[in-house]
Amino acid sequence: MEYFHGAQLAHLYGWGGAPQCHCGICNGQHLARFSDSPDDVVAANRHNVATWLRWAEALQAARPGSERRRLWKDQCWEAVKARETISRQWRSAQSPTWPAALKVWATAAD
Ligand SMILES: [Zn+2]
Repeated sequence: MEYFHGAQLAHLYGWGGAPQCHCGICNGQHLARFSDSPDDVVAANRHNVATWLRWAEALQAARPGSERRRLWKDQCWEAVKARETISRQWRSAQSPTWPAALKVWATAAD
């Protein structure tokens, strides 16, 4: 649930070993492949939409109100937990700062 430029991911993973994505656009390709070329920007945007679309569909399937808020909070909390695991795989000594909103959503009171 964070945005990273492809070059930033490549750097974080030591120029190899960036995670694959299995969205309908990436089909198993690694996430560090996106550059600033126009074709890559289009592909990255399509990847972003494919990723967000799954979350939006799940949220729309939940009942409005507390059920939907709980689902969003749980998704954000899973992202916080995953970030801890993922950042241990990064070879860079400096981790990017957390998106502030993610922790707020992950720990928000209902
Ligand atoms: Zn993807």
